[in-house]
Order: sequence, then C-alpha cells, then structure tokens
Amino acid sequence: MKVRKMFRSIVSGGAIAALCLASGLAAQTPAAHRTENVVVVMLDGLRWQEVFHGADLELLKAPELAALGAPKERSAQAEKLYARSTPEERRQALMPFLWSVMATQGQIFGNRDLGSDSHVTNGLNFSYPGYNETLTGFGDPRIRSNDNIPNPNVTVFEWLHAKPAFAGKVTAFGAWDAFNGIFNRERCGFPVIAGYDPLTGIPATPEVKLLNELKAETVRVWPDEPFDPVPFHAAVEYVKAKKPRLLFIGLGETDDWAHAGAYPEYLNAAHLGDSYLRQLWELLQSMPEYRGKTTLIVLPDHGRGVGSLWTSHGEKIPESQQTWMAFLGPDTAALGERKDSATVTESQIAATLAVMLGEDYHAAVPQSGAPIADVLGK
Ligand SMILES: [Zn+2]
Repeated sequence: MKVRKMFRSIVSGGAIAALCLASGLAAQTPAAHRTENVVVVMLDGLRWQEVFHGADLELLKAPELAALGAPKERSAQAEKLYARSTPEERRQALMPFLWSVMATQGQIFGNRDLGSDSHVTNGLNFSYPGYNETLTGFGDPRIRSNDNIPNPNVTVFEWLHAKPAFAGKVTAFGAWDAFNGIFNRERCGFPVIAGYDPLTGIPATPEVKLLNELKAETVRVWPDEPFDPVPFHAAVEYVKAKKPRLLFIGLGETDDWAHAGAYPEYLNAAHLGDSYLRQLWELLQSMPEYRGKTTLIVLPDHGRGVGSLWTSHGEKIPESQQTWMAFLGPDTAALGERKDSATVTESQIAATLAVMLGEDYHAAVPQSGAPIADVLGK
C-alpha cells in the first residue's frame, strides 16, 4: 500500500517519474496496481505433465501401474472422466477452471513443449524445501528433510504480517501438519491451521463445528494429513468470517495418492483441487472486500518423475524439479499459456506476491528471487 501510494505521487510528478522509470522501480511497482489481497493455493506434487497434457493415457491404461493403489473400477471411471483424444481436451477435462479461466484471463507458466520453464531451485525436489523456497524466496541447505520442525527462516507471510497494514490479516491453512513448522506457527504471529488441528478463532457456527468433527473422526489414512475437503472448506469459512488479505491454502492429496501409485485418485485430487479454485474464486468475486482486487496464485511445491517414476520425486529424480505456476488477478495481463517465456522459479513467488501488495520483499531479503515482471503491470 505504502509503495503504491508513493509510486502514484511520483508518477504525477513528471521529471521524477522519468527518474523512477529509469531506476527500474516501474517494473516492480505497476502504475495500475490494484491487488489488495493475495491467495496462494499450492497443490502438492501435481506434475506439469498432467496440468498441460491432461491424464496420461498410458498410466491410465497400464493396469500394472494404474491399478497399483486403486481397484480397476476406479481406473475405468477415471478413463471416462479424463481420457480424451487430444492433450488440450484432456487438460480441459482434468482442470476446467485452470484452463477456461486462469489460462485465459491470467497466465500459466511451465509448458516445456512451448518453451516455458518453471522450476524449484532448492535441488532437493521435495516438500518442505519447496514450500520454504516458495514462501521465503530462497532454497536453504539447512532444510533437508520433511520433519515438522520450526522454520528458521521468516516467510513472506510473516514478513508482511509484521507490517501494520497486514496485522491480523494473514492466515495459512494446510492439509499437511508440517505447515505448522514451515510457517513457524509459534513465532509467526498469525493463525496456522494445519494437519488435524481444529479450526478455532472464528465463531463456532454449525459449519465450523461439523468440519471440526469430520476432521477429528474421519479415518486417518495418512497420520500427518486429513483428506483435502476439510481444510479447504475450513479455509472458506475463515474467509467469510475474517476476510484475510493474505491467505495460503496447501492441499496434499495429489502427492499422497501419487506416492500410493493410485493414478486415478491422483487425477481425482487434481480435478477436485481445480473445482476448489473455482469455488474460491467465485466466493472472492462475490465479496466486496475481494472483488476486482484479489490475485490468485496456484502452483505445486515440486514435480515428479516420468514413466514408472511418476509416483516419486526428489534429489535423484531430476525431472521432479520441474513445476508450473498460474496467476489470475487485476495486475496480471491476460497473456494466457506462456510460450518462449523467460524462466520462472518458485523462489520468485515471495517477492512477486509482495510487490502485488505494494511491498518490496526482494529489497529487504536480497537472496530472494526477483519479482516476476511478466505478471505485474497490466
Ligand atoms: Zn511427496
């Protein structure tokens, strides 16, 4: 906010504006800077291959792969839902909101077939290092495991929350309990609701009570994270009640089902995640606090292997450093699916979202990646 006002008054000042443009400030602080809220949604370990090509027909058809973690009927159902003759049709069937709204009104990076590269820089290609890189702007060699330990680094969420304009206006929801550590819940000062934590801090409406009961009582397939619907709908209730300016939602089922070898469920999780993006976007556009002044950023924390290695990722699987990222909001020009674009990295997200909110994180934390100029300045 402060930078934005400053920029506007500088722009009205003629000669100083020229100076300002020459210094490159304009690239980071667009004149038509209308974002007041940012929502970041991360879909854990969802590959760019499915995002840009849709369902992999070989994985769907190969029973020894597709049926590893799911019965045959689930493969047949997934084939009906997601198998189409062209990659364009398949991706539209898998993620209709991403392709009909985000990729037409916003931008999406990471289609290597078209010369657009998006990747993590942390070298480890798994979750905690990926979330740390995305949320702080740099890979940290000290973070070499997924252990749920307090992050020694300050995320851009914590950095923004320390500013008066964002105090009490920042929240993070995560399916995975390690988000408590990643955001450093004990230190960060804003609510982090992760893993099997109940939602507190807003009135206990019937919806909130039911969500907390479902979270507590549903079978725990994974000890460290519930199924995605409960954390997602808890975030929705929180948005309605508290209207945060900066919100994080981390969904985990894509990665869990992939590790289990359950390709149909992995696709279903991606499809559900896409429907959540639509629900969230429609909710935000229905609220005066958000309508026309909110940017949505969507990305995974790492990629996965290819062929039979699709279930896995990590340091020894180089393809799993490949990611994708999508942006939709009032400051992002509708350039759609990017072709031959400059490489983008997860380390640039922190500074990019800060600039959208009028703050220069990259100057404050120089080891962070620079803001992505292409999505700033409509
Ligand atoms: Zn994983």
